[in-house]
Amino acid sequence: MVMLSNGKASHQNDGLIIGRFQPFHRGHLEVIRSIASELDHIIICIGSAQQSHTVNNPFTAGERYQMISETLRDESIPYYLVPIEDLNRYNVWVAHVVSMVPPFGRVYSNNPLTRRLFSEAGYEVRSAPLFNRYMYSGTEVRRRMVSGDEWESLVPEPVVRVVKDIDGEDRLRDLAEEV
Ligand code: ATP
Ligand code: MG
Repeated sequence: MVMLSNGKASHQNDGLIIGRFQPFHRGHLEVIRSIASELDHIIICIGSAQQSHTVNNPFTAGERYQMISETLRDESIPYYLVPIEDLNRYNVWVAHVVSMVPPFGRVYSNNPLTRRLFSEAGYEVRSAPLFNRYMYSGTEVRRRMVSGDEWESLVPEPVVRVVKDIDGEDRLRDLAEEV
């Protein structure tokens, strides 16, 4: 945080990133590490917070919160973790997010809609680097869980523990079986 000449704090170096984190994987951890190095604080928004127990969104906001906080426990990254529910009115989406999080000046996203909405609202928008995207994706982790393939190496070790604790693989397989 930098103090401006008018005595107010600038939050230009406080950045925000949004994901659904279904589940939190190594690509997410790498991008957070990478952007944290250029930020004072990082605000991690758990998107679609109201969603759980579906094939594409199997984990609750609380379970995702636990995955992320236990992973970041050993990292020296100053972060805030904020669940955000969907609001399917894009013209007020930014205001909705702003109402839920600490002040920030910059948004990291590759999603064209997210980028447009935040830049229209006057925020600096930067691209977030992708790490081994072919393997490190929520879709790939869930696919492997359903098919019984090895998925554990795609997520940080604390996430493996959280998923096992809640019997997440069986949950996802049950959800995938529904006709
Ligand atoms: P899903 O396949 O379920 O959509 P996802 O891997 O795309 O999952 P999301 O939960 O949708 O992850 O979160 C999207 C955010 O995570 C975006 O900011 C995106 O840039 C970032 N992200 C996803 N995968 C990676 C990766 N491999 N490396 C860096 N950032 C990633
Ligand atoms: Mg995605």
